[in-house]
Amino acid sequence: MLSESPTLAMSARAKELKAQGKAVLDFSAGEPDFRPPAAVTAAVTEYLQTRPVHYAPVPGMPALRDAAAAEFARYHGRAITRGEILVSCGAKHSLANLFMVTLSPGDEVVIPAPYWVSYADMVRLGDGVPVIVPTRREDGWRLQPDALAAALTERTRFIILGNPTNPTGAGYPAGLLRQLGEVMARVAPRCWLLVDDIYRRLVYGGFEHVSAFATLADVTDQIVIADGVSKSYSMTGYRIGFLLAPANVVAAASRLQGHVTSGAATPSQIAALAALTDPSCEAAVRDMHAAFTRRREFVLAGLQALPGLDVVAPDGAFYLFCDVSRHLGPGTQFADDIAFATWLLEQKLVGTVPGTAFGAPGHLRLSYAAADESLRDGLQRLGEALAGLPPPRDA
Ligand code: PMP
Ligand code: GLU
Repeated sequence: MLSESPTLAMSARAKELKAQGKAVLDFSAGEPDFRPPAAVTAAVTEYLQTRPVHYAPVPGMPALRDAAAAEFARYHGRAITRGEILVSCGAKHSLANLFMVTLSPGDEVVIPAPYWVSYADMVRLGDGVPVIVPTRREDGWRLQPDALAAALTERTRFIILGNPTNPTGAGYPAGLLRQLGEVMARVAPRCWLLVDDIYRRLVYGGFEHVSAFATLADVTDQIVIADGVSKSYSMTGYRIGFLLAPANVVAAASRLQGHVTSGAATPSQIAALAALTDPSCEAAVRDMHAAFTRRREFVLAGLQALPGLDVVAPDGAFYLFCDVSRHLGPGTQFADDIAFATWLLEQKLVGTVPGTAFGAPGHLRLSYAAADESLRDGLQRLGEALAGLPPPRDA
């Protein structure tokens, strides 16, 4: 049976408490708090005022597919045609389509943990078998070549890498990516690499995001990319995502999409087209990035100062993944991270997501895609909450 998305469930509960009038500070779901760039809103408004809203072509409006192809060609340094791009209802939909059309029963998909909550359920939906490979805090939560080699089998169809990753923010530098590509080519030469690039523009502290295509020149026909406008353009509710894949995979995913959702919503495609093509959007993206950079530093320092919490500085995305295990277990108030997160939300009105949801018990994920004042108040409330607990266990 599929499980409920835990990130969305925590944020739904936080919203419910807010609707009851409670002053919740919610750091659960990862969704930027900004308005989208002004040109996006202007384009969609003009469209709605002047046109009937009809179905869009199933694989996406030609102009949007071309704009995405041009953006990806520029970024990945290779020619990309319209036929290699599928527009879907968010990158989540792109990924689900991909697994549904490529996996056969029993195909294995390597998923490094901590992982984004939906990967494993999507793989199961496609009759595949998620193979969870733990990563270590000492390795910056990055999948290592020896762990990958041990996980690959004849049945491995995909390796999923989030670059950077949700929930840890870990990014893959070119050298490590190359080593992983070499392992893949050597041990499982028929396997594909799926890179989830949804946070690629949200990287900080000198981390340089590299294109998997440009870095792994020997296996380019085995690379699939998921990308979208939700995070970098603050357009989560528009629901537009892109799959960049060989044309036959895009065609198969498009056939599936044609029976399940039809094309993504027409106004949303107009909005995404403006995001990718209106030159003024770049400045808006840079401003949001600057705000995330500031917030990351502020919240990281704040959390590091709290007793019994341990955080690795993330390369990207907008999450901090905190080890809270010293507040869990014998002699503490909580049995596990779920109990801790539930108490924080229900009693202290601070929304987080327990690490168990990401395959890493003993942790909490906090999203800093929230207003500066909320982050400040949230840190204070968290500090007060911790001060009322028994002292953290020895490390
Ligand atoms: N991948 C990751 C790692 C994410 O965190 C998200 C956010 N929900 C997505 C994909 C999907 O984003 P969306 O469907 O909004 O494009
Ligand atoms: N990706 C975001 C998160 O991890 C949004 C929620 C979701 O789609 O899971 O919080």
